[in-house]
Amino acid sequence: MTTPPPVLPADPRAAYLSRKQEIDEALLQALARGTYILGEDVAGFEREFAAYVGVRHSVGVANGTDALELALRACGIGPGDEVVTVSHTAVATVAAIESAGATPVLVDITDSFTIDPEGVRSALTSRTKAIVPVHLYGLPADLAPLRALAKERGLRIVEDCAQSHGARYQGIRTGACGDIAAFSFYPTKNLGALGDGGAVTTDDPALAERVRLLREYGWRQRYISAIAGTNSRLDEVQAAILRVQLRHLEAGNAARRSLAALYDQELKGTGFALPAAAPDHVYHQYVIRHPRRDALREALKAQGIGTLIHYPAPVHLQPAWP
Ligand SMILES: *Cc1c(COP(=O)(O)O)cnc(C)c1O
Repeated sequence: MTTPPPVLPADPRAAYLSRKQEIDEALLQALARGTYILGEDVAGFEREFAAYVGVRHSVGVANGTDALELALRACGIGPGDEVVTVSHTAVATVAAIESAGATPVLVDITDSFTIDPEGVRSALTSRTKAIVPVHLYGLPADLAPLRALAKERGLRIVEDCAQSHGARYQGIRTGACGDIAAFSFYPTKNLGALGDGGAVTTDDPALAERVRLLREYGWRQRYISAIAGTNSRLDEVQAAILRVQLRHLEAGNAARRSLAALYDQELKGTGFALPAAAPDHVYHQYVIRHPRRDALREALKAQGIGTLIHYPAPVHLQPAWP
C-alpha cells in the first residue's frame, strides 16, 4: 500500500479536507472549552512552534504583518529610525515597517531573490536600526554577511519568515537565525491557519515579553497598561487548527522538495532560470524566469496549468510609494 502524497496548503480547502477529522476534533474541543481568547490552544501552539523553530519563545499574534510590526516595536524601533529591507517582497514587509513608525529603506536582491548584502552595506546611515531579510519563496537569505554588518554597526536582524516555515540556514531554522522573527499563518503559507494568524519568535526573553505586552494593550496585569500596546492576539480557534497543521508541516515541506526536484530535473537544460538549489529550501513558491514570460503563461494556461507572477511590481514602483 502506498500513502497518498500530502495535500499542500497552496489549496487550503483541499488541505483541510485531507485532515478534516483531526481539525474538526481540535475545533470542537476548543469551542467546548470556552476560553476563546488566549486560552490553552494559543499557549500550546506557542510552546510547540517555539520547539519546532528551535527558540525559547514564540508569541502568537493576529497576522504576519502585525508580527513584523510588533517585533520591530519590541526592539524599540520607531519614528526617526531606518529599517533596511528589499523592494522585491510582499508589500506587507514594507507596510509593517511603516506601521511601526520607522522609515523603510529598500535595496535590491541577488539572483536568488533574497537581499543583497552589498546593497545593505551601501544603504546604512546613522539612523539605521535594523535589517529585515525576507526568506523569499522559502529560501533563506544569505545571513552571514548581514550578521557581520549588524555586529559591526549595532543593528538588529528581524527575519521575515512568512514564506520560510521550516527552512534552515546552516542547519538552524529560520526564525532562530536573527534577534527576532515574524511568521505569517495566512492560509496559503507553508504553515497556514484557516483564517489569519501570525507569530513572533525569539530567544531573548525581554523581547518576547515586550511582544506579549504589545499584543494586548500593554497589559502586564488586566486593565492596566504598562506600555502603549494594541490588540493583536492570535485567535484561539486558529491556534487549535495550527496545532494540527504544525504536525503536517514537515511532510508538506518534504513533498514540496520532491516536487521541486522533479521540476529541476525536467526543466534542466531549457531556457528557464530555475530556483537556486539549496537542500533546506522549503519552496513556498517554485519561481522561474523566462524572457517570454507572458507567452509561456498563456501556453501553460491552455494546458490547464495555473501560474502567478511573484510579484508583478516591486514595492518602490507601486502607487502607494511614490
Ligand atoms: C504573507 C507575507 C507577509 C504578511 O503576512 P500576513 O499574515 O498576510 O499579514 C509578510 N511578509 C511576506 C514576505 C509574506 O509573504
